[in-house]
Amino acid sequence: MALVTVVGSVNRDLVLTVPALPGRGETVLARHFTEGIGGKGANQAVAAARLGSRVRLVARVGADAAAILDALAVEGVDIGAVSPDERATTGIAAVVVDERGENTIVVNLGANAGLAVQDLPSRLVRSPGEVVLVQNEIPPDVVEQAVLRAREQGGVVVLNPAPARPADTRALAAVDVLVPNLGELAALLGTDRPATVEDARALLGRVALPCRAVVVTLGADGAVLKEADSATTTHIPAPVVDAVDTVGAGDTFCGALADALGRGTGLRSAVRRAVRAASLATTGFGAQTAMPYAAQLDVPAL
Ligand code: ADP
Repeated sequence: MALVTVVGSVNRDLVLTVPALPGRGETVLARHFTEGIGGKGANQAVAAARLGSRVRLVARVGADAAAILDALAVEGVDIGAVSPDERATTGIAAVVVDERGENTIVVNLGANAGLAVQDLPSRLVRSPGEVVLVQNEIPPDVVEQAVLRAREQGGVVVLNPAPARPADTRALAAVDVLVPNLGELAALLGTDRPATVEDARALLGRVALPCRAVVVTLGADGAVLKEADSATTTHIPAPVVDAVDTVGAGDTFCGALADALGRGTGLRSAVRRAVRAASLATTGFGAQTAMPYAAQLDVPAL
């Protein structure tokens, strides 16, 4: 069984479905409202757990998180390293989704902002080859320390640099697989967002990032993989699906990638599986509700 430790955020997701996303200064009436569990850390942990990994989550929540923690435990996520912060509220994400599945999201970090280096388990990697999966919804020093410690302890380090912010070069050099989307890649490199798959491939071919591999997610176009020791890029197209809600697609991708890497799958096959898992997740509403289980992914038709 794959071992995965996720260091990241936990949020309450307030999801409003609207006919069209509001413009500046505009008020629109929602057609539908749901509340769910989100945060890139929690989402990616659940995605990996549903695919069979033994997942531990390192995070901070407020005093209001009892139901969230129960739900994560039901998903099989080990919440032993989730610290309650009695003086803070759990992070909140206000998600607005339109009829085409496009979304805008505003996040209040809440307790996530209080996650500290001291909250990281000293043994971040419990056995060699364990995947340590980190995102940017927690303070930068915790991200850097988690990445460096995981590398030092022999883990497979996956960093999802979302939301985008300047990255520490020493930490980037300790990353095995960096997983930005197109916007995050552009922000990291200080370039314009590539408009096409070919533009993304050309950009990746031109730049040298210090990590061992970069996997850029391209929405409906799948993903592009570039390994540091190879001059070529590989495009892995996404299956054509009836996408109704792309919230959580990137998180499903990262969780599925971690699950596959944790069982020793080669990077290219792991990316293929992650693309399939993420595409499947866009066919249902909600971030976690639509995340696939291993049995769904193993159906050859998709
Ligand atoms: P993020 O949600 O982080 O912006 P992307 O939009 O790049 O990430 O999507 C991540 C993955 O989700 C893609 O690599 C793809 O597998 C899947 N995906 C997203 N949107 C679609 C879509 N419209 N059709 C099929 N797959 C999709």
